Amino acid sequence: MQTEADRSAQKSIIASLTRKFPNVKVVGEEGSSDLSNIRDDWIVNDYSDAILSKICPQEYVNIKDEDFTVWVDPLDGTSEYTQGFVEHVTVLIGIAIKEKAVGGVIHQPFYKCNGEEGRTIWGLKGLGVGGFVPNDPPSDKFILTTTRSHSTEVVQKALDALNPTEILRVGGAGYKVLQLLEGKAHAYVFASPGCKKWDTCAPEAILEAHGGVLTDILGDHYTYESGVSFPNKRGVLASAKGQSHKQIVENLPTEIKEYLSKM
Ligand code: MG
Ligand code: MG
Repeated sequence: MQTEADRSAQKSIIASLTRKFPNVKVVGEEGSSDLSNIRDDWIVNDYSDAILSKICPQEYVNIKDEDFTVWVDPLDGTSEYTQGFVEHVTVLIGIAIKEKAVGGVIHQPFYKCNGEEGRTIWGLKGLGVGGFVPNDPPSDKFILTTTRSHSTEVVQKALDALNPTEILRVGGAGYKVLQLLEGKAHAYVFASPGCKKWDTCAPEAILEAHGGVLTDILGDHYTYESGVSFPNKRGVLASAKGQSHKQIVENLPTEIKEYLSKM
């Protein structure tokens, strides 16, 4: 599904990034965008002084522009957007260096809290996260978050195998990972090939910058170098900081792991 909002947001993000970083490869969900005739007020030129005042981790200081790939999902949770669940909608911009997801932002354009409207969560491995208040999930429960609109029999089987005390069904990879970062769920489980590299690059980097883990259902990391195939064929498994990712992988039924490994 694609709306005018998806296309417009992508144009604005890709044009802004490529003007500033012409040698960085930017891959957007909506395919190649026509960047001619973009209105000047769609180009973002300002910086976050709060983030730029931080010290860049040493491992990133000498990276060449050519080694970066930026993965853009201009609107994650489009189904929810069209159905009015706008709080599930996020804008995802993930930064990979060679094959590894290292940083990114999850922006919530419709976030509302205490008079605050919209917020931007950021993370960089080796530096940390910001833009929100992280929290740990409750120790006396085991809450899973999963798809709201793309469930299947296998997806449900994987959830049931983990014996959750509660299952949250929400839209968007960005929003699900935010639930882990905010302590609302312990793990995000989606045993289906439905999502793509632009869905997971930013969420993976931010979650892992905070001590969580995001992999496929078999426990292996996806790779994000430019040219990699887009689909995350082996599903998504993410766990909040402090959870045993390995244990969750082990608790998933072997036949589901085998099924997804053949995708
Ligand atoms: Mg998406
Ligand atoms: Mg999208």
